[in-house]
Amino acid sequence: MSERAAPFYCPYCGDEDLRPSEAGHGAWDCAACNRAFKLSFLGLLARGTASPKEAPSDD
Ligand SMILES: [Zn+2]
Repeated sequence: MSERAAPFYCPYCGDEDLRPSEAGHGAWDCAACNRAFKLSFLGLLARGTASPKEAPSDD
């Protein structure tokens, strides 16, 4: 796992002219709309990890 993932489009104007920002890791500057934004990994989704809890408990 690395933090090399790069956005392809600006989430604000949709332009592709993104450059890595000096603000830090995951920060990008959009040359088209002059916005700076940051991408961050929040965590894994809980979906798909449900474990079966239907085991019969009567013995
Ligand atoms: Zn933009």
